[in-house]
Amino acid sequence: MTESTVTSESSAVRVERLSFRYPGGPDVLTDISFTIAPGEIIGLVGPSGAGKSTLLQHLNGLLPSQLPNFVGHVSNVPHVVIDNLPVARQTIAEVRRRVGFLFQDPDDQLFCPTVFEDVAFGPLNLGLSDDEARQRVRDSLASVGLAGYEPRSTLRLSLGERKRVCLAGVFACQPSVLALDEPFSSLDPRARRTLIGILKRFPGSQIIATHDLDVVVDLCHRVLLLDAGQLRAAGPTADILSNAALMERHGLEVPWRLRGEHTNG
Ligand code: ADP
Repeated sequence: MTESTVTSESSAVRVERLSFRYPGGPDVLTDISFTIAPGEIIGLVGPSGAGKSTLLQHLNGLLPSQLPNFVGHVSNVPHVVIDNLPVARQTIAEVRRRVGFLFQDPDDQLFCPTVFEDVAFGPLNLGLSDDEARQRVRDSLASVGLAGYEPRSTLRLSLGERKRVCLAGVFACQPSVLALDEPFSSLDPRARRTLIGILKRFPGSQIIATHDLDVVVDLCHRVLLLDAGQLRAAGPTADILSNAALMERHGLEVPWRLRGEHTNG
């Protein structure tokens, strides 16, 4: 099933008929269409290998070989639009400013010796002054509960702290959309609760790829279910995740908190 394409002017994210394959490989995404409204939180669920990471990477052009040019792009229909801005070679810098991307593994994201340098990298890259960048670093570290961590080595932090430093680096660029790849994996319960609280306070739109369906129940307004590169279902969180037959069909389980609600398929 494909969610019908809504060409709302006010969409924070619009994906239209997106298909993709890695060079020499089979189709990984097939004819995907959906929108995300401003402020909406979407859970992107599905079995491993479904294409969730690949889909997220299209939202800020992390797959550069796939970026269309405006001129000459097939039918000139952009496949991904962020705040009415088509993702294309000419717009990629602005798109990356607007879409904050969190990698599943913080070690893929952190590359500076200190927390300060890592979180300041984005704001400095955007052309902010040293003072403005320092302020952004202070504010975004405070927002993830790591005030005062500036001088710490990124190598000497727990996994949960490294994930929060990554998120601070994302927040420091003041994005309007968060694309988060398995943000809760490997976190202990307290770090997981902390991160849920941080994400609940974020005012923009979010799309969160995760296997942690209890968090999806807690956090997400709507769910997209991806399997074998196709969007199989989309709708309000409880409707999708409490559908036992649908979940089983796609290698998932009704999350604990929704068991006992309706289980028809
Ligand atoms: P998910 O995030 O749902 O686990 P992925 O997007 O990581 O799914 O992977 C979807 C499919 O694309 C898988 O079959 C995976 O092996 C393949 N894939 C992922 N990354 C690459 C890559 N860089 N090159 C080739 N194939 C890839």
